[in-house]
Amino acid sequence: QATIERIAAGEVVERPASAVKELVENSLDADASRVRVVVEAGGTDGIRVTDDGRGMTAEAVERAVEKHTTSKIADIDDLEAGVGSLGFRGEALAAIGAVSRLTIRTKARGTSRGTELRMAGGEIESVEPAGCPEGTTVEVEDLFYNVPARRKYLKQDATEFTHVNRVTTGYALSNPDVALALEHDGREVFSTTGQGSLEATILSVYGRDVAEAMILVEAHADSESDGADGGNDEERDTDGPLDELSGVVSHPETTRASPEYCSVFVNGRYVSATAVRDAIVEAYGGQLAPDRYPFTVLFLSLPADTIDVNVHPRKREIRFADEADVREQVRTAVEDALMREGV
Ligand code: ADP
Ligand code: MG
Repeated sequence: QATIERIAAGEVVERPASAVKELVENSLDADASRVRVVVEAGGTDGIRVTDDGRGMTAEAVERAVEKHTTSKIADIDDLEAGVGSLGFRGEALAAIGAVSRLTIRTKARGTSRGTELRMAGGEIESVEPAGCPEGTTVEVEDLFYNVPARRKYLKQDATEFTHVNRVTTGYALSNPDVALALEHDGREVFSTTGQGSLEATILSVYGRDVAEAMILVEAHADSESDGADGGNDEERDTDGPLDELSGVVSHPETTRASPEYCSVFVNGRYVSATAVRDAIVEAYGGQLAPDRYPFTVLFLSLPADTIDVNVHPRKREIRFADEADVREQVRTAVEDALMREGV
């Protein structure tokens, strides 16, 4: 296997958390209602993602690990959209398989026989019939065993696990109708019910204290046009670029020392948006202790053409064309929510 391919794979799979991200995304794409992520030593010793999704036939699983194969691009428009927003379509499994020992056990819904595929360093070693439940289990072992430079670059297990936890938490929060569980070194970190509410998911992920400190935030583009009476549906509030903002923020006494508990989703994507986080903190107007951050889960939706798409698709940091306006809208919405609660 050419070195260049392994380097390319390393672009897709930077660390255990990036493999977890791709595997969970595939499970969600496969219409799973239960997804379980099990990692050992922060994912450096092993990653296993199990879902009850639609599974794959023997032919499909062989295709799935080839490069540039995807079952998800219907036409050229999808392809172009994918390049901008979703990253490198059809490369994740191939990339993970190129830099690890990969085992996939899968059974397509409604079929009688499952398949187990094993590959190492990008080469398929075996494809055999296997007894397994409907759905898919992907197991990644010895990540970067054949890319020593990458392997050396991995941080301590605890740090790698922090990344895995953040990624998995993000999917749990944005998919409340999927029962998502995370296990690390034999210990269950969280497990959501998949019952469909953000509140229930926060309870499962962060615990009761945090869940009880949550304050609802909501703002629509037309929030300032009062009532339907004289209102014109075509006319939108020109207040700012956000179409919609919803979610929760915590009471100022329920905080953490790390900003990683400020979860922000833009058009459904879990992102890192410093501008939004700053605006949230600003809204608390000095009620937060120094270097403390609230728990927040905010979903922003705004026109795709107002988001900077020139950011690397694998990177989480996002930029807005009208950053000052986005900040202002977020700050105002959070302020309103806090005020409503008398905070
Ligand atoms: P992409 O997700 O961009 O299509 P991937 O390399 O991540 O590319 O996956 C390749 C293909 O393998 C997918 O298009 C899908 O058909 C199949 N696949 C991967 N994971 C699963 C899964 N958990 N359940 C069912 N099909 C899967
Ligand atoms: Mg994928």
